[in-house]
Amino acid sequence: MHVEIIPALTDNYVYLLVDDDHKEAIVIDPSDAAPVLARLSALRLKLTAIWCTHHHPDHVGGIDALRAHLGDLPVWGSAHDFEQKRIPFQTRALSDRDSVVAWNHEGRVMAVPGHTLGAIAYVLPGIVFTGDTLFLAGCGRMFEGTPPMFYASLEKIRALDDQTLIYPGHEYTLKNLEFALTVEPSSVAVQERLERMRVQLDNGFPSPPATLRDEKATNPFLRVHHADVVARVREWGEASSTPAQVFGALRAAKDKFR
Ligand code: ZN
Ligand code: FE
Repeated sequence: MHVEIIPALTDNYVYLLVDDDHKEAIVIDPSDAAPVLARLSALRLKLTAIWCTHHHPDHVGGIDALRAHLGDLPVWGSAHDFEQKRIPFQTRALSDRDSVVAWNHEGRVMAVPGHTLGAIAYVLPGIVFTGDTLFLAGCGRMFEGTPPMFYASLEKIRALDDQTLIYPGHEYTLKNLEFALTVEPSSVAVQERLERMRVQLDNGFPSPPATLRDEKATNPFLRVHHADVVARVREWGEASSTPAQVFGALRAAKDKFR
């Protein structure tokens, strides 16, 4: 099993989870059908399912056209989004800890509300698809959740194995690292990662995946317990007595960051 990275729209990433033995693929968050169809045919893969992390158009926009081209594929998403009928053609309603099977690999669903109330992550052996919940060096905007809720979701992802590879929904890594540097200006880990990512992206390579270990070292939203991060939030004059408050202050500051 391996993951194919497909850039789509302006800065979205669509992923193919590929079973090399069967020449089959599952698509995660198809914002757009055309680049997915192109990659499937280039690699001679048969698409067997569509998995969505949440209902936003830039994650589900290609479902209709994929099904028109390839037939009535199963569409998975959260139970919350199923109730709201906000993922087109959704066939399966997933809840936290539900098991998901990709060929002979067993994974599970992780409910990660915050960006949206129905947001889920797909956890497979050594891999997690985090949608707009966790980005590399950042996290999604808090459209529907609350700071304690979003913080708890990130802590769940943070509890995965350090070697887990993170596949996020967008290419926001440089901007996120620039923000991370305002939170921890003297962090060598952030400075080095920013340099490394600039080179990588300049050379036409996407920033994902990253290990959870890298995220723990440089992503301010996974570092809300760290003394330097707490001190920075205090300097901003924001409440910082709980990790959820530190998270909330960071998220608000990121919203204003350009
Ligand atoms: Zn979104
Ligand atoms: Fe998105």
